[in-house]
Formats: sequence, C-alpha cells, structure tokens
Amino acid sequence: MSELALYAVSQAASRGRRYVDEPPSHRSEFQRDRDRIVHSTAFRRLEYKTQVFVNHEGDLFRTRLTHTLEVAQIARGIARALRLNEDLAEAISLAHDLGHTPFGHAGQDALNACMRGQGGFEHNLQSLRIVDLLEERYAAFDGLNLTYETREGIVKHCSAENARQLGELGERFINRTQPSLEAQICNFADEIAYNNHDVDDGLRSGLITLEQLEEVTLFARYSADVRAAYPGLGGRRLVHETIRRMINVLVCDLIETTAGNIVRESPGDLAGVRLSAPLVAFSDELHEAQREMKRFLHKNLYQHFQVLRMTRKAARIVSDLFSAFVSDPRLLPAQYQAGAEQPRSIADYIAGMTDRYAIREHRRMFSVGES
Ligand code: MG
Repeated sequence: MSELALYAVSQAASRGRRYVDEPPSHRSEFQRDRDRIVHSTAFRRLEYKTQVFVNHEGDLFRTRLTHTLEVAQIARGIARALRLNEDLAEAISLAHDLGHTPFGHAGQDALNACMRGQGGFEHNLQSLRIVDLLEERYAAFDGLNLTYETREGIVKHCSAENARQLGELGERFINRTQPSLEAQICNFADEIAYNNHDVDDGLRSGLITLEQLEEVTLFARYSADVRAAYPGLGGRRLVHETIRRMINVLVCDLIETTAGNIVRESPGDLAGVRLSAPLVAFSDELHEAQREMKRFLHKNLYQHFQVLRMTRKAARIVSDLFSAFVSDPRLLPAQYQAGAEQPRSIADYIAGMTDRYAIREHRRMFSVGES
C-alpha cells in the first residue's frame, strides 16, 4: 500500500477495540478485523441469503455473499486510488450486510413490523449487534471485538433514538458529523455494486429487457458505445461490456469528484473529515444518472409482480415465525429460549436464518407431517 493520505484512517490513530487484544504480529489491525469477519458464522450465512432473487431461484444470481465481495472489491479500488486505508474499507465492506435477514428487504421490513414498539429492526444495527455481541468465537469476549473504525463504518444510518443507545458510535448521528472517508466510500461502493448487478440479474431473469434499459441514460450511452466499437455484438457480451463501462465510469467519477472535494475543502486530517460536509460524492451528472437507474430498477424490477409475489411470501414466513415464537417461546431452540430480552432474541434468531432455513423452519412449524 502506498503511503496513506493525511485524511485517511491510520492504525496508529485508531480508537481501538472494546476489549484489549494483543497487537497483531504480521497484519494491520484492520486486516485482523477483516479476517475475523471472514471467519464469522454470519459471513458464511451470506451465501444463502437473498440479494434480490431468493437463493433457490437460480445458481447464477447474486447472493448477499457475492454482492458483498463486489462491494469490497469496488471499495478497495476507490480507497487505494485516494490513498485511503484499503484494509479498513475492505473490512467495513465485508461486514456491511452481515445483519440482513433472510429474503432481503422484504424480510427486514416484516421483522421491523414485528418488532414495532420493541425497538424495531434495522439491518445496519443488526450487523453491529452481530460483530459486538452475537458471534460466539472467542473465549474472552462476545462478538468479534472489532476496532472502533470498522464498527463506525458498519452503522451507516441510524435514528436519533437508536443513536442515543449506541454510546460513542451514535454521537455522529446526534452531532451530525461524518464518518471516515473509508466508511463513506463503502456506502457508494454498495450502491455501485447493486445498481449494476441488479441490471445484470434483472436481464438474466428476464424480468427486465434490453429494450426497457435503453430508456435509461447511462445504459443507453454505454450500450451505444459498445455497439459502435463492436457492430453486431449482442446477447450476454453486449450486456457485460455495457455494465463494465457503467461500473468504470461511476468508480472513476467518484474518485475524481471526491479528490476535487478534498482539495477544495482541505480537511487536513481525519478530524477535519469528520467536521466537513460529506466529501465522497459523484458529480451532479452521474448522481442524477444513478438516481435515474435506481428509479428504473425500483419500478421495473423490485416492483415486478414476480418479485412482489416472493416478497409477500417472505413477509409471511417471517411474521408467522415471529408470532409463533412470541406466543410460545418454548417452540424456540433451547439457546434462544434463554435470551433475557425475549422479542429481541427471537428477532436475532429469525434474522440469522438463511432463506432456505427460514423456509424449512416455516414448514416444520406449520405443516402437519413435517418434523
Ligand atoms: Mg449491501
């Protein structure tokens, strides 16, 4: 790694871990965070959790795991180009979706509705709960005992009410200051990854078509470039060549715009970054192009009737399980019955489920003849 910029997060300035750990001998503190995340149970479960398409719908669609790897790769590239802490960007990216429920946003919305009046459910905060509390891997502490900076990056957004319960991690939501540039980058890397892979998966599934996408500025511009360079090219290669150009222009635009913002605002150091306006940004033009793509995907893919049907089923599975466990906690596996805060440990149990486990558990609970 080339020398870090003054406004990057440096290991030397880290606010450290909640429990004192021996310093690592051959890796940075943030590499150690990354390694702990990769070895966690929650990380392996990402393989069987929905991004947009439910895990069993097809072998080639993104899952939470492959989405997460794409986010990490994009975030690292951007961090390195801006001389930010690549290890930290990687650790945050790999952890960013650990708290997702089965069935993606449908599962989260259903669980949030179940937990209304009990503190709600938010996947960001659940990711933090996993790394701070729920992983059981170390003798000396609960969770993974990650550095402050990785934990800060995991909490992307948070209500004022929740922020008050997060201690120093919640302060920035109350004081309206910014997280590190590494954390800001991961949010954008997430967006770049999902917008583009959802176009790819949407086309692959047949739920959206090339003709529809030609109405979206960014797609139309780059598919025209590809067609001009390779007349007669069609099918998957046209799609992939277009998508890689879209990812590239978004990444380059983000790097250049952010570098310009840094020069203009000259935050000086990390403390300056925290007090400035958000510095990581797209140009106005690309920002608008991204929003147009998001609107397109929302209308044509996420609201497609076939996706909505699955969404409805997912919501039912989650709320059926929740109601059954709340009405009779003896139905829970023993280790979850012991949870002191009953509704929260039921939410932890359901949130930890993979898609297929939730489907199986639902069948076991509600289908006579299953055990
Ligand atoms: Mg994500």
